[in-house]
Amino acid sequence: MLQLFDTAKGAVAPVQLREPGKVSMYVCGPTVYGPPHLGHGRFSLVFDVLRRYLAWAGLDVTYVSNITDIDDKIIQRAQDEDRDWRDITQRCEAVWYRAMDALNVRRPDHDPHATAYVEHMVALIGRLVDRDAAYETSDGVYFLSETVDDYGLLARQPLDSLKAGARVEGSDEKRSPVDFALWKKAKPGEPSWPSPWGEGRPGWHTECVVMALDLLGEDFDLHGGGQDLAFPHHENERAQAVADGRRFARTWVHNGFVEVEGTKMSKSLGNVSNLLDLVEQYDPRAYRLLVLRSHYRSPIDVTDDTLRDAEAALARLDAFARRVAAAADLGAADPDPEALARFRAAMDDDLQTPTATGLLFDLVRQANVALDAGDTAAAAPLAAAAIEIAGVLGLELHAQATGEVPAEVHGWAAERDAARAAKDWPRADALRDQIAGAGYVVEDTPAGAVVRPA
Ligand SMILES: [Zn+2]
Repeated sequence: MLQLFDTAKGAVAPVQLREPGKVSMYVCGPTVYGPPHLGHGRFSLVFDVLRRYLAWAGLDVTYVSNITDIDDKIIQRAQDEDRDWRDITQRCEAVWYRAMDALNVRRPDHDPHATAYVEHMVALIGRLVDRDAAYETSDGVYFLSETVDDYGLLARQPLDSLKAGARVEGSDEKRSPVDFALWKKAKPGEPSWPSPWGEGRPGWHTECVVMALDLLGEDFDLHGGGQDLAFPHHENERAQAVADGRRFARTWVHNGFVEVEGTKMSKSLGNVSNLLDLVEQYDPRAYRLLVLRSHYRSPIDVTDDTLRDAEAALARLDAFARRVAAAADLGAADPDPEALARFRAAMDDDLQTPTATGLLFDLVRQANVALDAGDTAAAAPLAAAAIEIAGVLGLELHAQATGEVPAEVHGWAAERDAARAAKDWPRADALRDQIAGAGYVVEDTPAGAVVRPA
């Protein structure tokens, strides 16, 4: 049985599913106003691995991850660059998915957009106002945090200490510094939607409550995100659901930070805090392997050394995959059951991917030894287990050249989308040439560039 660290419990606990055989997951997605960074890459990879593992374990997984396409930062950038805000969100979303494709992150089953849910959000805020869990001020509508008895559950702090430590943000009409905006009244020229409190836009914390409950229903199984989202974002999502009388996530899962070595890092890696740069400059699978080699709750250190080391390890896996593909006498064997049992035990133990990854490399080593000795009977089940485990972890092994577009080329296309979004035409042209040089054609569509073999 899968056990995960539940932030609400502050402990590793068995995941009790709402419905046997089915898993409903909600993972907070990006705010589309700029290029994705390494932290985005990490949470996407962590939850992609969890999702793939659950599906492999035989569960029917529904994975929802939203796109925040209205937000103060989007409006700010549109004003700064004198552009339509939708131009920014559409392009940034295309870049986002390009980066996710490069990382081999499976697309969500649903990717609800905040702008498509404004009416639902207005309805929720109206109910919260009716229940005296929210109040109107001159600049918006705020949630009254003290209406939720266990506010502070995910922060692991009582309300009083949160109040004492809170920065005062937003209106000085707020009754408590911990209260947060549900609705922001529009200033002239800002995008806005109608509401009983005048034209405005929803606050960020409201969209995920509405979208998760709409698409997954009450009492859904897993809510995930980066550790920085536990408080206040997830706390505030949960508080609204509780105040609305709805059961929310059963288990809260948060992944650790990405650490980037200060000046040394930026000197050796350039601007690699940008995910697109990483997938262009390195084998994109290297970042996945780096994420897998650390426990999801631990910080990871992204450096040129750790990425190059991951690339070297991938080269060993690819060489093994080629050897297996070439060994015609290996036949189709069932994966070694003991190896799969060990894999499952590691993953069920709060997603111990470092152990699972170690097992993968062990199996490759053992299978290679058996192949060296000409013992194909011993090698075959070990090789089959290694290849199965790599697949579950989302590591695509390059056994041979295929007609598919390599992740590296997707990375270049993503970089080119970003260059075009920034109106850096010489860079965009250079990347198109680079893609063409590798034997692929890039075609522009309203949703971003599409790449295919030439
Ligand atoms: Zn969220």
